[in-house]
Amino acid sequence: MREWPLWRLRKTALLYWLVVDAAAVAVGAYVLVSTPRPNAEQVVRFSVIAGTGLVVIVGTAVAALLSKDSQRNPWALHISYLSAGVLALPPNLLALLLLGPALYGVLGVRPDSHRWLFTMAATTLATFAARAVLGWERPSWNLGMLLLSGTVLLLARALLVAFGLWLRAPSSAADEVLGVPIDVVLGIVACSIGTLMAFAVAVEPARGLLAAPPMFLLERAAQLPQWRRFAQRDAKTGLANAVHWDRMAREELARARQRKQSTAMLLLDLDHFKRVNDEIGHLAGDAVLAAVALELRGNVRRGDLVGRFGGEEFVVLLPDTCPEVAESVAERVRMAIAQLRVPTTATDGYAHELSGLTVSIGVSTSDRFGYDVADLLVAADSALLSAKGFGRNLVAMA
Ligand code: GH3
Ligand code: MG
Ligand code: MG
Repeated sequence: MREWPLWRLRKTALLYWLVVDAAAVAVGAYVLVSTPRPNAEQVVRFSVIAGTGLVVIVGTAVAALLSKDSQRNPWALHISYLSAGVLALPPNLLALLLLGPALYGVLGVRPDSHRWLFTMAATTLATFAARAVLGWERPSWNLGMLLLSGTVLLLARALLVAFGLWLRAPSSAADEVLGVPIDVVLGIVACSIGTLMAFAVAVEPARGLLAAPPMFLLERAAQLPQWRRFAQRDAKTGLANAVHWDRMAREELARARQRKQSTAMLLLDLDHFKRVNDEIGHLAGDAVLAAVALELRGNVRRGDLVGRFGGEEFVVLLPDTCPEVAESVAERVRMAIAQLRVPTTATDGYAHELSGLTVSIGVSTSDRFGYDVADLLVAADSALLSAKGFGRNLVAMA
């Protein structure tokens, strides 16, 4: 228990996480002792809602296994049957429904138990807050109230978790704390499916099963951001991969051609990179690529398109940039990379700080070569070759 990662949290985060956990336990206990025993019809409704959730969770897990996708926590599915429960079940059976996400956490792969417990607690509190909004004993099914309760469920859960994550690591990026925009869409869809499921169950319990196919689809759609990322990003550096960069560059150049805007292209190739691999190891080489990518991103504007062109070659499209500015940007990048220090582990297992990395850069511009990606690349490549020929660690203009 002493080694639990929970104790390594900052003090304020630890306190907050424990308060949320304790509040969830207290609410759960209150619900269990204060709600009368459910009647037979309520038990049937519960069985259909829980059974449908279970079938879909198992179904999506099998589908992920068959298509060799990585397993992820199906949080949107949990939200959808929980929101059905918020409308159609008495509070004690709703508490029982929360065993769904809880059991999934217990049985599934779970690197951090305390984090799982914390999100579980936040989900419990948000679920009962949504129920309290609708009315504890007889939930209202008025449209306005349904919207309000769905909002409370999603927002309370998101804010409780986000605040905890922020306290844990105040410097985290916003999307790590708040999630990505598609999560909001998934949450709303999950709530609507849950609400429709509650209506169906109220007409006749067995009709709740009709929610299974849209729930299945919801869970598959939740994979989209990950698939898009795999399709567009290079895994080692996080930059746009060559195909995605090419598509973005074409669009940007078409826009620039219409507006007659000067656009520049930088093609970068690390100098003597093979030596890093041969002398320190391929993992060190990969660490250098990631560090260079980060440095490159940090030295250009947000709207500049940075991509990994090939092995140790990078490419940047600079919209609305004249040749003089392009050359100075390339110089800045060249100097920044020369200053770079990359902590790595060498093949002998010892820590090794790499420095003295250099890069050669070829620059081409639309003013001389037009707005065709291929023409700009060919010109930048030949300038890059001459930079290598003149001794490396240089910028050459095409
Ligand atoms: P030059 O200054 O002439 O560019 O020399 P160089 O050694 O950088 O050029 P060369 O093209 O001979 O070597 C590129 C090396 O980049 C060879 C390859 O092993 C390495 N490389 C390509 N992709 C990766 C990668 O993803 N990870 C690692 N670690 N190395 C890579
Ligand atoms: Mg190369
Ligand atoms: Mg090279």
